Amino acid sequence: MINLIKNFITGSISLLKGLLVTLKNIFAPTTTIQYPTQKLKMTERYRGLVDLRRDKCISCLQCVKICPTACLALTSKLTEEKKKALESFTYNMELCCFCGLCQQVCPTSAIYMNKIYEVTTYDRKKLYINLLDPEKYVAWTSAVPK
Ligand code: SF4
Ligand code: SF4
Repeated sequence: MINLIKNFITGSISLLKGLLVTLKNIFAPTTTIQYPTQKLKMTERYRGLVDLRRDKCISCLQCVKICPTACLALTSKLTEEKKKALESFTYNMELCCFCGLCQQVCPTSAIYMNKIYEVTTYDRKKLYINLLDPEKYVAWTSAVPK
């Protein structure tokens, strides 16, 4: 009989503790969102996909040289004004480890990491990006909050 009373008391205390936690959290601010209809806004320093401000690039190749996974490749030609002009610039997303070294080393901030975070595809070829194409990330940008 004593054991029964003891069990009843400890059970009741345990139930009350649980209810208190529930009650406390009912009025707490929501920390989850209704994904995928709602999207999180990424922080300032978030490293998404590698992107390029083409007009700022001086084809110095520093980003290509520092990339630890060799996922960047570019070619350039000399213009009549003896300046280097980009011919091609590719980014193999499949190899990228999102270290951000290319962004850090770029002297003109031409290369940077955008805020795109939903990167899934059934087609591997889509992970091979032409950075000179202005439409390159159109398919992925639906994931990015405005
Ligand atoms: S983030 Fe790192 S791995 Fe990706 S392209 Fe830049 S340097 Fe290479
Ligand atoms: S480091 Fe910057 S300026 Fe140099 S090639 Fe790369 S993107 Fe262009």
